[in-house]
Amino acid sequence: MCENAPEVNRETTYAKVLLPLKISDRLSYRIPGEMASTVSIGSWVKVNIKAKEYMGVVEEISVQAPSSLPKERIKPLSPIPGIAPVSRNELELWSRLADYYMCTAGEVFKAAYNALLKKPDGNPRTGKDAAVPQEEISPLSSAQAKALDSIKDAFSRGKRVLLNGVTGSGKTEIYLHLAKEIIERGGQILYLVPEIAISRQLQQRISKIFGPLLLTYHSGQTIAGRRKAIKVIRDGKPCIVLGTRSAVLLPFNGLRLIVVDEEHDQSYKQADPAPRYNGRDAALILSEIHGSDILLGSATPSFESLYNVQTGKLVEVKLSERYHAAADPTVRIIDTNREYRLHNMRGSFSASLLKEMNSILQEGGQILVFRSRRAYSPIVQCTECGDIPKCPNCNISLSYHKAGNSLSCHYCGYTRLFTTRCQKCGEPALEGKGAGTEKIEEELKELFPDRTVVRFDAETASSKVREEKMIRDFAAHRIDILVGTQMITKGFDFEKLSLVVLLNADTLFAVQDFRSDERAAQLITQLLGRAGRRSDAGRLIIQTAQPEHPVLVSRGDTARYMAERRTFLYPPFVRLITITVKDSNEGRLWNACRMVKDAISECGITSVNGPVSPAVDYAGGQHIREFWIKLARNRDAAAIKKNLSRKIELIDLQLKGATVILPDVDPL
Ligand code: ADP
Ligand code: ZN
Repeated sequence: MCENAPEVNRETTYAKVLLPLKISDRLSYRIPGEMASTVSIGSWVKVNIKAKEYMGVVEEISVQAPSSLPKERIKPLSPIPGIAPVSRNELELWSRLADYYMCTAGEVFKAAYNALLKKPDGNPRTGKDAAVPQEEISPLSSAQAKALDSIKDAFSRGKRVLLNGVTGSGKTEIYLHLAKEIIERGGQILYLVPEIAISRQLQQRISKIFGPLLLTYHSGQTIAGRRKAIKVIRDGKPCIVLGTRSAVLLPFNGLRLIVVDEEHDQSYKQADPAPRYNGRDAALILSEIHGSDILLGSATPSFESLYNVQTGKLVEVKLSERYHAAADPTVRIIDTNREYRLHNMRGSFSASLLKEMNSILQEGGQILVFRSRRAYSPIVQCTECGDIPKCPNCNISLSYHKAGNSLSCHYCGYTRLFTTRCQKCGEPALEGKGAGTEKIEEELKELFPDRTVVRFDAETASSKVREEKMIRDFAAHRIDILVGTQMITKGFDFEKLSLVVLLNADTLFAVQDFRSDERAAQLITQLLGRAGRRSDAGRLIIQTAQPEHPVLVSRGDTARYMAERRTFLYPPFVRLITITVKDSNEGRLWNACRMVKDAISECGITSVNGPVSPAVDYAGGQHIREFWIKLARNRDAAAIKKNLSRKIELIDLQLKGATVILPDVDPL
């Protein structure tokens, strides 16, 4: 590391400094002579730009002054002692992510060192997490042991692995066995999960086995807590880091294994701000940099990973046996159109579904009710003029929330008091349409007055304490029926949960997006996996007006969906990049769109669609247009992206940031 560091002498040296900003150029600074020995690549330094002070990291040192400026105008930097330098691996990861995701290394740096660049916000929680290991790791079943052998065999050949294991097959146990071996050899493990909220059970399980070697890392943590984890990781101590996508940016030092659990999950993708990275794909890059093994796991692998299996980039290991298997869970579909005709519907529930729920509850079972829309009524409409009130800032209809008697926008958070008077025709005729989780909760409380019904969605899960309590209560069977959105579909493992209900599956089929069928199919498989994790055969009941929908008929027919993607040239067969252009002023928006369109064609990109209006084409007071670019999956893609990024940066400069232009690589 030191051999190319310049000699310490009286000669002035210069540093190129990476700053946590959206600029791709590195700024150069002079290293004051007496400081030369303390500054090396990766050192933290302070610099001034326009009288504002920034913390940055040294990327290059040279005795040559940059040619762009006269020597005497190059400003000095000042070292920040006491902060451990950034490693070469980190610098490499940042620059590779920046290239791949069409952002700047500075933006990745900023995401990585959020915890350091901000002011501390309290002390790390102490006490609880310093647990002593209390449990032995469980012995594997023979199917699990066989899968573990196949994984290790692939690793020994330098391969990356996709563990395609049905829900309840015990993928977690396999991860833990691998982790244990690494820990015993003093290595570090990164264990990625889509969301930390749904991983409390897992957290407890790991901490019982690994005690204080477990470190959690996620954005909901205190800055002080994150700093503490960072220190242990940078010092190269053996540990198992359980974290969400941002944990890929940690300063690992001795990383031997990465596990990406539920690798198909959309939560791995960061929507905003840049870097708009996918934690799974960033983990693949991280594993290359560290030469560590990587294992992706899922019961419903992403098409991207299945494609990588086809092309040999991943080795697939299958685990098709459930650990507690007595009988496979069953699916029953209830046709709501038919039930309405026969007058068999009680609110949102059909009579036969209610009968089933009753008997489950009587047998001492628990029920999960899934509905993809929160609020009381997802939309409201005037029964006189038909008007549907929309958010003033977004092209989105407002939802009615009974608890606060309010109408609110789930996009930007706009809220106003609800009155029945229609703002368009003036008649007192506004009425809620459809049933969201809040209404379903109310219906269930009326239908099952002696039972405990609890709702779990973005509103009720707002506090971590409540969330933890909800999970504890459900596990201890203090809750009979749990109603919720997406949050209840992931990772729950409850012994007495024997029925899962999917209400109004039609909402899932309605989304117009090339991935919507894939997502609906994944969701149904995951819901099925929540039911009957233990000995009893669990069941999933789906209510829908479209019982013949292809997703229901051929859910597992991945080959068919893949063939469609291939025919119509969608990912994973091509690389998709969207460029979103946003401006509050429509004239400026069109001007920017024209410039972006020219830039795209100057890059030699032939497959482009746009500017098009996305489903939500007005949000937060800004008009939105999109360009959809398809690139062949070959070596040219990197050069094209680089070229396009540069052109967009120039447009940004020219427009002085008035219009927002956001590239998104592999959008979800
Ligand atoms: P998956 O992640 O594949 O859906 P889990 O890892 O959650 O499955 O395992 C399902 C259930 O089976 C859990 O309750 C888990 O504790 C149990 N289980 C799996 N493997 C073993 C094992 N080898 N020994 C004991 N229990 C196991
Ligand atoms: Zn809004």
